[in-house]
Amino acid sequence: MSTPVCTHLESISVTELPAEIAGCEECLKIGSPWVHLRMCMSCGKIGCCDSSPNRHARSHAGEVGHPIARSAQPREDWSWCFVDEVAFVVEAG
Ligand SMILES: [Zn+2]
Ligand SMILES: [Zn+2]
Ligand SMILES: [Zn+2]
Repeated sequence: MSTPVCTHLESISVTELPAEIAGCEECLKIGSPWVHLRMCMSCGKIGCCDSSPNRHARSHAGEVGHPIARSAQPREDWSWCFVDEVAFVVEAG
């Protein structure tokens, strides 16, 4: 197991991706494209990555104070803390 240097692990309450992901929730509302998807590990909100035009995962983290998002891409299990700016893997329980 990796040794995370993130101090926000207690904010994690959602680790599993939903069975079906329609896309970035905010991009779907405004009809915008996205590149890759991230899932907020505090509330499960699906947002888009920093390579996407609107960077909704990052804006969600900043707006509501949910620091950690995981990749919602197939076969990717890493997480990212927007506050510590560090990537790590959360062990599935
Ligand atoms: Zn952190
Ligand atoms: Zn988006
Ligand atoms: Zn959230």
